[in-house]
Amino acid sequence: MYNQLLVKRLFTYLKPYRAEFILGLFCMVLFGASDGAIPFLVKYILDGVFADQNKQLLTLLPILIIAFALLRGAFGFGQEILMSRIGHKIVRDLRSQLNKHILTLHPGYFVEFGSAGLVSRVSNDTLQAKTLLTESIASVIRDSIRIVGLICAAIYLDPILALIGLVAFPLGVYPVMRIGKRMRALGKRGQESVGALSTLLQSTIIGGKVVRVFGREPYEEKRFDEENTRLFRTMVKGDTAKALTTPINEFLGAIAISAVLLYGGLTVINGTRTQGDFIAFLLSLFLLYDPFKRLSKVHASMQQALGALDRIFDLLDTKPAIIDPVTTKPFPSYTEIKFKNVTFRYPNQEVYALNDVSLDIPQGSTVAFVGFSGSGKSTAVDLIPRFLDPNKGEVTVGSVNVNQLKLSELRSKIAMVSQHTFLFHDTVFENIRYGDLNSTKEEIESAAKSAFAHDFISALPDGYNTMVGEGGFALSGGERQRIAIARAILKNAPILILDEATASLDNRSEREVQEALSRLMVGKTSIVIAHRLSTVLGADKIFVFEEGRIVESGTHEELLSRSGLYYRLYNEGKTAGV
Ligand code: ADP
Repeated sequence: MYNQLLVKRLFTYLKPYRAEFILGLFCMVLFGASDGAIPFLVKYILDGVFADQNKQLLTLLPILIIAFALLRGAFGFGQEILMSRIGHKIVRDLRSQLNKHILTLHPGYFVEFGSAGLVSRVSNDTLQAKTLLTESIASVIRDSIRIVGLICAAIYLDPILALIGLVAFPLGVYPVMRIGKRMRALGKRGQESVGALSTLLQSTIIGGKVVRVFGREPYEEKRFDEENTRLFRTMVKGDTAKALTTPINEFLGAIAISAVLLYGGLTVINGTRTQGDFIAFLLSLFLLYDPFKRLSKVHASMQQALGALDRIFDLLDTKPAIIDPVTTKPFPSYTEIKFKNVTFRYPNQEVYALNDVSLDIPQGSTVAFVGFSGSGKSTAVDLIPRFLDPNKGEVTVGSVNVNQLKLSELRSKIAMVSQHTFLFHDTVFENIRYGDLNSTKEEIESAAKSAFAHDFISALPDGYNTMVGEGGFALSGGERQRIAIARAILKNAPILILDEATASLDNRSEREVQEALSRLMVGKTSIVIAHRLSTVLGADKIFVFEEGRIVESGTHEELLSRSGLYYRLYNEGKTAGV
């Protein structure tokens, strides 16, 4: 029932290509039905040409055969190419839709699905949708028609023989299906084994030091060898089952043919049946084998494809919780940020990440968020660009609740520089230009200069045209951060959110990053998740987070004099996040 719903939903993607699909079906029906004509062609050749020595028929038949081959070829090609094109078009549409959908999802969803999982949904699962359509569903239609056509031909040629043959036939098909089932089970087990093996290998490689320091090499070796042997056995069993298919088939086929031959041969000798009739009949039985074999495989591939389809629709049905309001308010001209009794809990968590948090960040000021890791600082800043929406309370910018602003406009007013700076697999130039796609080369260079990035960029192998990001030129943490700062400078947004790096930079890099940041912060309403003492000292106000609440706030001196959590953090030589 559920599977039917999935297929029904897949068929909605077929709508734009309805005409092509109907044409494909038409070709499929004619191609399938043409199978039924083959035994008759053979019958006429044998009876007409060889038995009756009919010359007229001899000249006619080659033309008929060529015409038949041409038509059958055309329909075969037509159904294949049309279905395949439609399949690829649906894959393309699904991929675009998934990509578009992922762009609307909160990055938190990626944790739930796993980023590798998402990638495989877009690249592999979508391909399965094509398989379902072009292989499974097409096979059910085409091969059923072929079977019906051939059975009709067989019955027409001889009902009694057909009965004998068709009783023997399922007997032959059954073991083939059994072997197929076993092969699928073994295949699945083999895949699991390969997975287990690579996990073991991965932990041996990544955890190499741990393995060695605990002297666990023999244990790892044993675990690996056990799994390796299991995989070997499964593979051999699978191959044995596969190798058995053909001989078993042929043997059973031989029995069926022998039975038919015994009865049929007798009638030919007695003169009650022509040779042509008999051979044509045998041929229709032979031809039945292929569509039957195909149909017996459909079930497995269909299940696999349905699983993939289920994963695709599951992702598409994940609602982006955060959408534009129905009526939007214009972005305010002043950017004072306020949190009013904000409470937030992640859907999969018991405890509140933020609990009744209220704070006020005046326009143009710099505040620092400090507190232990997991105390809610990142969650709090994620509420401002509406990566998350609070469960209770409100976040306002210039007295307007952020949920009344157009999302794209709100986000265009916020620049973020995070400790996990993401650089795209592109040139340095394009990575900076991401901040403002309308900027000129001069503006980009000037932003890089302000970010203390121009000098090191100029020294790169291809300067601004050096490829960075995954697979590109390896930049240091400080360099990546300065590129991110240049990107933010270019964006020139009135609100700035900064997640300082915990990773220690060397003194010179730190000074440069620090200097670049202070240039960036001029005149901006800035929130810094602070890890450095200098940032905390320079902040207009510090908010101390503990277990989702703000437990203290004030300037550095005020907080120190209170001898509370901040005092403790400070005396441990740590300001935050540690
Ligand atoms: P901080 O930035 O101070 O280190 P966070 O705001 O990241 O703290 O985390 C606050 C709490 O929310 C923690 O208990 C953390 O485990 C939880 N949390 C953070 N991100 C997620 C997420 N994507 N899904 C579920 N829980 C999360």
